[in-house]
Amino acid sequence: MFYIHPPEGQVALHSLEECVLTRLEYLELLYDKKTSEFSGNLEYLLECSVYDRIGHFTLRLLTASSTDFFGYWLAREKLLFKHRLNQISPRQLCRLLKSIIRQLKRRDKKENSVDVDSALLEVSLHYLQADVFSHIIDRNHSYECRAHRLKVDFQLLPKMVQNREVELSNGYAVVFCSQWREVLLSLFQTFIESEACDTEFPMESVLTDPRLIYLNRKLQFRLLRDGVSCGQLSASNLDVESLKFPPCMRNLHTELRRKHRLSHFARFYYSLFLKECGMKLEDAVDYWKNEYSKPQLNASICSHKWQKDAKKFTYSIRHMYGLEGSRKNYRAPNCNAICMQNVGPNYEGGCPFKEFDNRSLKRLLSSSLPKSDLDEFLKTVSRLQPKSACTAYLKLSRKDVGDVTVTSPVEFYLARINPS
Ligand code: SF4
Repeated sequence: MFYIHPPEGQVALHSLEECVLTRLEYLELLYDKKTSEFSGNLEYLLECSVYDRIGHFTLRLLTASSTDFFGYWLAREKLLFKHRLNQISPRQLCRLLKSIIRQLKRRDKKENSVDVDSALLEVSLHYLQADVFSHIIDRNHSYECRAHRLKVDFQLLPKMVQNREVELSNGYAVVFCSQWREVLLSLFQTFIESEACDTEFPMESVLTDPRLIYLNRKLQFRLLRDGVSCGQLSASNLDVESLKFPPCMRNLHTELRRKHRLSHFARFYYSLFLKECGMKLEDAVDYWKNEYSKPQLNASICSHKWQKDAKKFTYSIRHMYGLEGSRKNYRAPNCNAICMQNVGPNYEGGCPFKEFDNRSLKRLLSSSLPKSDLDEFLKTVSRLQPKSACTAYLKLSRKDVGDVTVTSPVEFYLARINPS
């Protein structure tokens, strides 16, 4: 359960995918205190099993590509470790400490500024001493016991230092036997964080291995759908990032920049798209505030002004982020929902591959395709269904995008920013 070495051997891609997604589902339920709702295969979560290691290491590798994803995963993985520590039997604890020592002895010495390996080794050896071990597993061992103490570099226990759970002495945190769980938990976090920052961390494989690219895309899509930010979009990089948006959302962005207003549903769908693509609440408020503070064009059908309706706007953005009212987690619409909308004369939304004539489509796509490619594409586009046309456009605008079929605007953007 404190995994230092990744497992060796081979695993079928479908088992790997199952293993990763099952673990993620369990971690989410554990975080939400709803593990009783878990209906997946528990075989993937048996402590110290090969599948448990595979799930842990694959998620560790995949999430390391984004600070937000990594923080999201680590918070949940820590919870699982804590949960396991709380239920651990004396025999399992003994095995855990021995396994940490064994794994550490197998690896080359790391040249880190903070030596997590040595501290882990020292802590494990300390708890394994006969008198200390029998003391900490004693049923009557109190949560405040100070019979055995140990000094650990304070930098390795940041959470405990921050929470003032330790005494500091000459750069060391003094921890007591009653805190053995907290110490292992803190070192678990520090160890994983330091591994992710290590220059030897195999990040390259996430970017180049087609199997990991495939899994990474699935994972990101799943996390983004659950409202986990990937940190890509902000109010300041939106103009650049909008070039990677699908035509429907690019059109809404362009229209908003031009007219400084959008009609109700267009605003609703575009906001949800931005949210699922990683825009944080504060950035969303800044973005809409910036546009709605400007004077509207006559052609605009929306008469709202930020100066007059700031409270209402802020409330409605927070509502979309699930922070107000029913606190519902609203989802961005998929292509089918967008294509089925009834488009009125003033509605800026809708799927351009369904609603636009060739001239408007050409204008919209001209900034992302060379003229010759665009002319060629426009000759065929009318014969294609919107989703097929959009997939063809995605593949033209980014040649290394791999095997993907567009079914939603978020999926388009993810494929665009994570090509294979
Ligand atoms: Fe947007 Fe979907 Fe239409 Fe592409 S097919 S433009 S993603 S609605």
